[in-house]
Amino acid sequence: MGQVMNEKSEKKPAYWVFAEQRQGVLHDVSCELVGAAAAITRENSGLVTAILLGQDIGGLAGELVAHGANRVLVIDDERLAVYRLLPYASILKQICLQYDPDVFLFGATSLGVELAPRLAAMLNTGLSAHCIDLKLDEDGRLLQVVPGWGGGVLATICCDNSRPSMATVMPGVFKKERTDGRQGEILMLRAGADIDLSGPKVLKTEMQELTGTSLDHADVVIAGGWGIGNAEDWKLIEELADLLCGAVGATRPAVDEGWAAEDRMIGQSGKIVKPRVYIGVGISGMMHHVVGMDASEYIIAINKDEKAPIFDVADLAVVGDFRKILPLLIREISAKHGRNCLPITTT
Ligand SMILES: Cc1cc2nc3c(=O)[nH]c(=O)nc-3n(C[C@H](O)[C@H](O)[C@H](O)COP(=O)(O)OP(=O)(O)OC[C@H]3O[C@@H](n4cnc5c(N)ncnc54)[C@H](O)[C@@H]3O)c2cc1C
Repeated sequence: MGQVMNEKSEKKPAYWVFAEQRQGVLHDVSCELVGAAAAITRENSGLVTAILLGQDIGGLAGELVAHGANRVLVIDDERLAVYRLLPYASILKQICLQYDPDVFLFGATSLGVELAPRLAAMLNTGLSAHCIDLKLDEDGRLLQVVPGWGGGVLATICCDNSRPSMATVMPGVFKKERTDGRQGEILMLRAGADIDLSGPKVLKTEMQELTGTSLDHADVVIAGGWGIGNAEDWKLIEELADLLCGAVGATRPAVDEGWAAEDRMIGQSGKIVKPRVYIGVGISGMMHHVVGMDASEYIIAINKDEKAPIFDVADLAVVGDFRKILPLLIREISAKHGRNCLPITTT
């Protein structure tokens, strides 16, 4: 491994972010996390380093600097062209042992939730999974906020006894903000011959076709829950989403039932959404789901139980059976605007 300045010799808290990329495209969460780390380290005069692994990926380093990294360590190697757990974990372990970061953050993506725990186990350190907030306490320690224990509480976790303090953070929790002209160091490291190349080999990669409006940047989200009851009635959720140019969202039980695809899940194990309008139908409002939607601008909840917890976060609470309400709503909107997609405007 090539040499860079030792993090510890600078006596500044060293915050590392794993910069996730696939096929040369940076995941948004990596930019969100370097920005979040930059905001935190402004308070404790720390240093944000992004770790970028892959092949022909040097061009992405500038983006990480523009989003908040002070420096980017790039390991550009053909053996890292396609993500594989053991090669990536073995390299990260080596550079962690060499440079001794205080904090190491990963996106809670399918890649991050596989790689981060493996690395934490290799380094014998702690990991907080699926964090929905990061902050400093008065002593400058990193606090990691995780919805936990059945969803009823938010646990605040601090990793005092081992280094680095590791966390996976939900995509969409922090804002992605780019500053043109931001300066940072870009350092190219070389991987040694001792990368662990064992484990499964990737023979072929196929991109999955996503159908319908993506949840990621939708202005309107129509989410359905277990209360919808069956695949036939789920079509009402899809129909309303189509009419409002919205994206379909779902709770975990609705995904488990197969009414919606996995990428539609909102919440701690799914996506964090912040649309202008969120309509939740047949959803009770458990913490695991609510952490993924409570930052929406305007929340409408339809539930037949007037005591449903989702009403605690709703701006408009509609108590009633969705089987009566949704067909009326769909008929009303269609009568006024036809079957064309109607963009919602809020005032
Ligand atoms: C570690 C962990 C992670 C998790 N991550 C997630 C996550 O990311 N996202 C997620 O969503 N869940 C997650 N869960 C599950 C979560 O705890 C809840 O179980 C789930 O959110 C409940 O889904 P629901 O509201 O659809 O179902 P329920 O809680 O069963 O609620 C159904 C609601 O439908 C209402 N209803 C029934 N019939 C009608 C009708 N005809 N009209 C109107 N309303 C009706 C009922 O009154 C009820 O309030 C997680 C759980 C664990 C343990």
